[in-house]
Amino acid sequence: MVIFHDPQCADYGSAMRPEQPARLTRSAAHLRAAHPTWDFCLPPSAATVDEAALRRAHTAAHLRCLNQPRDFDDDTPFFPDIATHARRATSAALAAAEHAFIHRSPAFALMRPPGHHATADTAMGFCYLNSIAIAALHAHHQLGVRRVAVWDFDAHHGNGTEEILRAELGADPDAYFFASVHQSPCYPGTGLVDVGTALRNWPIPPRSPRSQHLAALRASLDAILAYKPELLLVSAGFDAYVGDPITAMTLEREDFAQLGTWLREVFQSHAIPAAGVLEGGYSSDLPMLIEAFLAAWSGSTGHVMPGSAP
Ligand SMILES: [Zn+2]
Repeated sequence: MVIFHDPQCADYGSAMRPEQPARLTRSAAHLRAAHPTWDFCLPPSAATVDEAALRRAHTAAHLRCLNQPRDFDDDTPFFPDIATHARRATSAALAAAEHAFIHRSPAFALMRPPGHHATADTAMGFCYLNSIAIAALHAHHQLGVRRVAVWDFDAHHGNGTEEILRAELGADPDAYFFASVHQSPCYPGTGLVDVGTALRNWPIPPRSPRSQHLAALRASLDAILAYKPELLLVSAGFDAYVGDPITAMTLEREDFAQLGTWLREVFQSHAIPAAGVLEGGYSSDLPMLIEAFLAAWSGSTGHVMPGSAP
């Protein structure tokens, strides 16, 4: 498993917010200890992110706003250097997508801020740049991937990703497929119905049985397989966990492992490479949820836990 991670992603924000630096410092430490053989790579610096790649997904006005010391909303305030932090997360998503497509092996962008709520022209919901949408458009336009699918299993609807891909589908109706499984009603209130045949939504009522949620997740992945993508990008949010403080879903650790197992089988059976991008997940159990997902995806068994002899 290749993990694109830059410790500088913890250099902004505060412990007073759900989307806080410790999410990443604790997760990175846990993964390094539990899987010493996994390959941690520093993504290319934020300065190297091509403005053209950002401009495919976002307006010039939005990119300018990121540099201005003004809050977007209560969830998405201005932080010093937030434009650089957001570009750094995008750089990792781009690197993960390129790695998965070129080397045909799993890659994961372990970064913050998350991105899937950011729309073409605004930041919202802890998200400043829509890293996964930027990576999807980059894959199609720059890497020559004809069919790109995005699977979003974060507990919140990936409204920004849907909006950005919707605009792109006008020019090329077969280039993208988006499938989101999310709590509804819940923030941001979108994703109640499908939009055409390429933008699919599975709203799940709060406190639904995990078997029902997992069945929807399987149905969404089967819809992606029917689309026959050449690359699968995954908005991996872990806030549908039963212990998450800001949602009311019921998934357990082993359910996130199941999602990873499915991704491994998708590659084995359909030869579709996949890259993941961390979105939400606000429980103190986030490190073990990410670990369960990635270990199952990579087929790693018998991992060494912290403190045990190698
Ligand atoms: Zn979320």
